[in-house]
Amino acid sequence: MTPHDRAAIPPSLSYELYPPATPEAGDSLFHTIDELSATTPDYVSVTFSGTPGRRRASVGLIEHLVRNTRLRPLAHLTCVGETRESLDRLVREFLGLGVRGLLALRGDLPRDPEVPSGDVPFAHQLVELIRDVEARHGATLAGGKLAVGVAAYPNRHPESPSFLHDVEVLVTKQRSGADFAITQVYFDPAHYVALVAASRAAGVTIPIIPGVMPMANVRRLERLAMMTGVRPDAALLHRLETASDDGERRRIGVRAAAVLARAAFDAGAPGLHLYTFNDHRASVEVIDQLDLPAARSLAVPA
Ligand code: FAD
Repeated sequence: MTPHDRAAIPPSLSYELYPPATPEAGDSLFHTIDELSATTPDYVSVTFSGTPGRRRASVGLIEHLVRNTRLRPLAHLTCVGETRESLDRLVREFLGLGVRGLLALRGDLPRDPEVPSGDVPFAHQLVELIRDVEARHGATLAGGKLAVGVAAYPNRHPESPSFLHDVEVLVTKQRSGADFAITQVYFDPAHYVALVAASRAAGVTIPIIPGVMPMANVRRLERLAMMTGVRPDAALLHRLETASDDGERRRIGVRAAAVLARAAFDAGAPGLHLYTFNDHRASVEVIDQLDLPAARSLAVPA
């Protein structure tokens, strides 16, 4: 997308939040939400986990967004360990709260092989289940549709035999009814470009939104590498490790995230999804460094 196209078709802007684990973290998150609202995101996504406490917290955060803010939530939903009935119920619960967008995910497999993995083994089948609920509740939705997103992987998913297998999985997700995809974090701009090129060649037409993480926290990067298999650039890691303080680390991480986002826009990315880790400062600083059109969103600041 050229700067001219960007002005004509503003890129989408969205943030990922996760439900707070303590009341103190909740207060800090409400402040973060206020600060992020000022950048008029198109939606904010809320992560989900199957454990009962975390699930209640996700639903609670979505309720807060719907009732107390002008932000549109995108509810993540994972199918691992769930029955078809429990997923059906959860989708209906989200609809009841006013949610009109879902990110359909499998979730990470339980470490214990004895733990049942559930009725719905793959994310594309969750997309189909959501479309099924949507069809039954056409009247609630005034005949409208839910926006259903899925995950996409610029670097091979750790369980996947190859990058091209992941692309085939994305084709299947689109065929099952996905409207858009958000990528896993990545650290090399060429990986997003390669994913989009391979996906388009395989017949994927839905928007593929780059998921970018302001990389200011070394421990978080290492944990992420362990969970996702995505390793940060060694030079960047070294600069972060040898930075004089947290402020310097944030400046380095923000600059690197802005470079990734700019490269994705230059390659035609239709939007930007920022992994905030519930800290608005770095994300807002990334946005400040990008030349996004001032009137990029239809949303009106509160
Ligand atoms: P799937 O698409 O089902 O893929 C899982 C594995 O199965 C892959 O290796 C794939 O190649 C393989 N596969 C898929 N279909 C087939 C098939 N038909 N035949 C053979 N193999 C197949 N996790 C959470 O727990 N909560 C969250 O809120 C959350 N949010 C996320 C948001 C984003 C944007 C991203 C990118 C990831 C998120 N995750 C979240 C992590 C995600 O749940 C994991 O990456 C998970 O391991 C895979 O999820 P998926 O939806 O891509 O699964």
